[in-house]
Amino acid sequence: MTAPISYAEAFLTGVLSGFGMDVDYVRAEKDTLYHLDDSGAEAPVLDLVGGWGSTLLGHNNREIVAHAKALLDADAPIHAQFSLHPVADRVGARLNEILRREFPGAEPYSIIFANSGAEAVEAAAKHGEMARALRARELLDRIAWHADVAARAVRAGTATPGPLPGGGTPASIEELLGAVAEHNAERAARRPVFFALERAFHGKLIGSTQFTYNPAFRDPFAVLGLPARFVPPNDTAALEKAFDEERTAVLDVEVVDGVVTLVERDFPVFAGFLVEPIQGEGGIHELTAEFAARLRQVCDEAACPVVVDEIQTGMGRTGAFFASKHIGLLGDYYLLGKSLGGGVGKASALLVRQSLYRAEFELVHSSTFAKDGFSTAITLKALELLEADGGAVYARAAERGAAITGALRELAAEYPDVIVDIRGRGLMIGVEFADQSRSASAIIREKNASGLLSFVLGGYLQLAHAIRTGPTASAPNMLRIEPSVYLDDAEIDQLRTGFRALCEILRNQDGGALVHP
Ligand code: PMP
Repeated sequence: MTAPISYAEAFLTGVLSGFGMDVDYVRAEKDTLYHLDDSGAEAPVLDLVGGWGSTLLGHNNREIVAHAKALLDADAPIHAQFSLHPVADRVGARLNEILRREFPGAEPYSIIFANSGAEAVEAAAKHGEMARALRARELLDRIAWHADVAARAVRAGTATPGPLPGGGTPASIEELLGAVAEHNAERAARRPVFFALERAFHGKLIGSTQFTYNPAFRDPFAVLGLPARFVPPNDTAALEKAFDEERTAVLDVEVVDGVVTLVERDFPVFAGFLVEPIQGEGGIHELTAEFAARLRQVCDEAACPVVVDEIQTGMGRTGAFFASKHIGLLGDYYLLGKSLGGGVGKASALLVRQSLYRAEFELVHSSTFAKDGFSTAITLKALELLEADGGAVYARAAERGAAITGALRELAAEYPDVIVDIRGRGLMIGVEFADQSRSASAIIREKNASGLLSFVLGGYLQLAHAIRTGPTASAPNMLRIEPSVYLDDAEIDQLRTGFRALCEILRNQDGGALVHP
């Protein structure tokens, strides 16, 4: 008998208990979590969502665990801030090699380490804003210089002041330059613009939660953070409109043919455009290559850094290290997390294209636990395993993903009334179930209405078939599947059997069997 949970998220645990998910796992290996049954024996549960995307190399990957043990046995320094970190640098070098392989011709990227995915998002937002503010300062300084040149020319009698910003003749150069300064100060005081996509998920810290689309996560904290402007994914017209509406210009002055003339300059208001190549928590939606290409163009024109959030999609889960490779989207920033730590270390990272990188950032972003000796060494080991044998892990992610998707598509063909879509790439798969708002079963209707259908479906699979799937953070009718690359055929058979039984229950609208398997 396990003690009830009273202190560590007791409320959440209580909610999970309603779906049979309040299980105390005592051991984890590959794609299996074990709990103890009533007789005290280990009972396996097939874990198809491994750490919500963090166990691409399986739970407790043998080689990573051996490496972790060796590090600890060797008393390797873990906390040695303000010293050399060659291992961290090798992680950066390795990631750069991978990036250049997947995006030939890409320039080097500097790396900032962090602890969690959300922290990497925050680091990107901070870096984006710092770089933007510095560019804004440089532009305003240049304009001030030009204003001084113009004033001197007028005083020297070689130029006369041209019209005021709104039209009309100024009484003096001072009046003209004062009006320009006022105009520019108003524009420069505008808040930076971050774009994100509708359905996006980028974390739940104060800044990142404002880039997360689901209002349940975002609204309660709206006053604390800078709102993002959300753009519908794969809609190039909406993308262009969003940029047009947010574009801001300031006024520069030039002496042209003896007249102090006003010239508009784009003001750097854009701090970043965050995208997931495949939206994970938003329901497994992939960006199209067409949208990605237009996004790249529009962001280049507007000098807006493209921040590619590969926290869930990256590290090979989709068959390439970077999922953005599939859609040909080269980001200015990359965010990595989850499986970066090989399922053992806690690590995330921000990569920034060196021509956009502001080294000053290193003085204003750090954390006690980021770039520590243990997590960087584990990350390096994870990258070694991912890169071994000419990318066998990536090939396996694609192959295992195709095997799972194939099995699920067969079911979808057999149960088109139950499964409406199978989406994703590689080992990032979403199974979307039909809306049950008109279910013949009151139980199913009620679960559907409360937005908890995916929890009920997951609970059934857990209790009746010892399969752990995951809901997404925003798509109420979806179960997602993100196992390790080591999932074997027998486990895919178990998945098929469980999902078939679930389809049968939903076809028969048997609410009782669903909630009391
Ligand atoms: N970005 C994406 C795309 C994610 O999927 C997640 C986590 N689901 C995060 C950011 C936040 O990562 P973490 O939970 O490590 O803070």
